[in-house]
Amino acid sequence: MALIVQKFGGSSVKDAEHIRNVARIITDTYRANNDVVVVLSAQGDTTDELIEKAHEINESPSRREMDMLLSTGEQASVALCAMAIEKLGCPVISLNAWQAGISTDSNYSNASIKTINDERLRAELDRRNIVIVTGFQGINRRYDITTLGRGGSDTSAVALAARIRADLCQIYTDVDGVYTGDPRIIPEARKLDEITFDEMLELASAGAQVLHNRSVEIAKRFGIQLEVLSSLDPKPGTIVKEVAKKLESTAISGVARDENVACIAITHLEDKPGVAYRIFSLLAQRKINVDIILQSIGRDNTKDITFTVAKGYADEAIEELMEHKDELNFADISCDTNVAKISIVGSGMINHPGIASQLFEALYNVGINIRMISTSEIKVSVLIDAKDSDMAIRAVHHKFFGERAGA
Ligand code: ADP
Ligand code: ASP
Ligand code: MG
Repeated sequence: MALIVQKFGGSSVKDAEHIRNVARIITDTYRANNDVVVVLSAQGDTTDELIEKAHEINESPSRREMDMLLSTGEQASVALCAMAIEKLGCPVISLNAWQAGISTDSNYSNASIKTINDERLRAELDRRNIVIVTGFQGINRRYDITTLGRGGSDTSAVALAARIRADLCQIYTDVDGVYTGDPRIIPEARKLDEITFDEMLELASAGAQVLHNRSVEIAKRFGIQLEVLSSLDPKPGTIVKEVAKKLESTAISGVARDENVACIAITHLEDKPGVAYRIFSLLAQRKINVDIILQSIGRDNTKDITFTVAKGYADEAIEELMEHKDELNFADISCDTNVAKISIVGSGMINHPGIASQLFEALYNVGINIRMISTSEIKVSVLIDAKDSDMAIRAVHHKFFGERAGA
């Protein structure tokens, strides 16, 4: 007997037929003599629809009320799935985040899980119940509902798997594994049998939404091996683990695109020590994550600082900086949301010089201008115009995987 956590994303539970399919996967696992904990996302596009509804009423609602609203999607799916499992004759119970003891900080709409009190969950498993838990949501110290950020149900699943020391954590989705690039945009993308936690973490952080980046962080920290697989096509998926077998010695494992990017430029700042520190500490206090940062060389005692944040945080970032305009002493601040980030990721990069130049060449060959560049040991990212991003991601993927050239 094994203890298995299975997570199903929105597309896997989008309607009654899909819920029945998921219920069959779960009950087959249960009937094979396993303990099963299930984590579900909201059905289909429910979360997007709820966001739209909110904006019909208020264009900038508080994050607390948004969490209260968005968490309802997951609550509906767990109850519906429990009903489908009841019909298949297995004992089942659905729990929300409060009942499942998932405590988070109070960073509404992007909360982090602090602790999980698994007493109730354990008791239900001891009664041989299948336990279905709402993904995406938690409870803060004041018992307010929080959410973990878009795509956060993966993180709920991995955190639960770590807490109850599950033998296996399966992430069921609408593709049959992790590919070298988003298979919906890059038809020639190849499925990976295995990928390391580090590479997956970089890919997820670079915008490959197949796994929520914090879920990979937790899986790495607690050594939880993940399997990403399809809920509609029963075949082995991709294993995400510490060390991955590689069939070929490729320098990069994948390419990713992030369209959820806003580029903020602050111009004519005074060129003196402490300016960058002040700007980014103000943003950190508001819990705004900054990604790529570019500072121009000082000229005439002034400099410009440009940086990127997730689109949903751009207004807040500008508001915070404008509140300190006199102190920061800048001429202008602007925001461009028509940008996208393209990244290549791979641990083999360290041993393959010239990878970045191949990326730049691929973009040059299709006439795409690069606005910002950032690199880490296993990742190179560029910021480009959003309108070029489909062409860019295909060209870059083709450069590294198309004819196995250079990779
Ligand atoms: P779920 O609703 O199951 O959580 P998501 O939409 O969050 O599913 O994630 C699955 C999607 O991730 C796929 O449909 C695919 O378009 C996208 N994706 C992006 N990059 C990759 C990649 N490298 N490999 C596989 N899928 C990817
Ligand atoms: N329903 C949430 C979202 O759409 C969480 C998730 O699907 O993981 O982002
Ligand atoms: Mg997802």
